[in-house]
Amino acid sequence: MSANVYDVVVIGGGIVGAACAAECAAEKLSVAIVEMRMVGGGATAAGMGHLVVMDDSEAQFALTRYSQALWNELRDDLPREVEHDACGTIWVAADDEEMAEVFRKQRFYSERGVAVEILDARQLAEAEPNLRPGLVGGLRVPGDSVIYPPRAAQFFVERARARGAKLLVGKAVERATNEGVRLRDGSSIPAGVVVSAAGSWAPELTPGLSVKKRKGHLVITDRYPKFLRHQLVELGYLKSAHSVTADSVAFNIQPRTTGQLLIGSSRQFDVDDTRVDRSIVTRMLARAMEYLPALSKLSALRAWTGFRAATPDKLPLIGPHTEHERLYLATGHEGLGITTSLGTAKLLVDQIMNRTPAIPLTPYLPSRVGSVHV
Ligand SMILES: Cc1cc2nc3c(=O)[nH]c(=O)nc-3n(C[C@H](O)[C@H](O)[C@H](O)COP(=O)(O)OP(=O)(O)OC[C@H]3O[C@@H](n4cnc5c(N)ncnc54)[C@H](O)[C@@H]3O)c2cc1C
Repeated sequence: MSANVYDVVVIGGGIVGAACAAECAAEKLSVAIVEMRMVGGGATAAGMGHLVVMDDSEAQFALTRYSQALWNELRDDLPREVEHDACGTIWVAADDEEMAEVFRKQRFYSERGVAVEILDARQLAEAEPNLRPGLVGGLRVPGDSVIYPPRAAQFFVERARARGAKLLVGKAVERATNEGVRLRDGSSIPAGVVVSAAGSWAPELTPGLSVKKRKGHLVITDRYPKFLRHQLVELGYLKSAHSVTADSVAFNIQPRTTGQLLIGSSRQFDVDDTRVDRSIVTRMLARAMEYLPALSKLSALRAWTGFRAATPDKLPLIGPHTEHERLYLATGHEGLGITTSLGTAKLLVDQIMNRTPAIPLTPYLPSRVGSVHV
């Protein structure tokens, strides 16, 4: 192989591309990462960084659980700036219907070996004294944690580079070719395998791909250490976040190691505008204050938006493109790409290396969704 021919070219230096590049390099594959803007500057910079086991489907559970275990293995190697915080999650139940969901989730997780703890109203108030009185209870998931995603993406890129990978920043890929990739500046990079980890931009590289942008807003406050102890998510979140058409807002808040509070979140389809929508932020903050009335006394510093890459069945696309021999997809991670980046990287490399993966691959293969065209 000549010096500038790579085994793998990874398109995108978000957390998914970075994790894939590090994993490929760990297998002694020669790797180039092409990032058109900055490492970790896409959805990875916009996200919350909640490493969470989810139970929307068995396949979602399998990938989040597998990925969380990989994050745990890595924990001691993560630099301090990744801000890993084992704060756990509390799913908050506001009424009896949501408490029924607490019991269902408790069964689901316990049967699959995830430690969880049911909290009644008093225990919930003790766990999080700033929550309003009158909530019914909650489910604590102590194994969930939080990181600062852009720094994690940089860490994976640094790991890949330490293993010989080349990083090209400020270069945009136009498309995958039969020889590798063609860049927008007219040059080419020959490669045996191309990995599209372009997040919500992936359909620009492979038109027709079943990935849609789903816009989200977040707000960050000034520093209020000890205001919260856990990531809190309302169970009503499940009713709104899983709609695949309507705009939605739900209470989801995270304590950062800096003492700041990261308040989410919203979901909007068919909105391309990156600007902050005041009406959405107002709804989001009002919802958060319904749960945490004392938030009204705190200062918000900044709001921003980002785009999740959503697939029709809410599972990522990990594996070969159906019509393009050299192209592998690692995109469509919606609101879980920080969590599932590590599992994605393992499953991708298992396919490239023709190895048996640790969890069944079929639910994530791009061939399951229609209309995947080059
Ligand atoms: C508001 C919000 C909250 C979220 N909260 C969480 C959470 O708590 N937990 C969680 O697990 N997930 C969360 N997510 C989801 C998570 O942020 C994403 O799933 C994840 O960041 C996707 O990473 P990625 O690398 O696929 O995409 P990105 O980070 O978007 O990276 C794609 C990269 O590709 C580059 N690129 C695109 N096209 C080209 C091209 N042609 N040539 C070269 N480079 C290109 C881009 O510049 C970009 O850097 C959240 C998302 C949002 C929006």
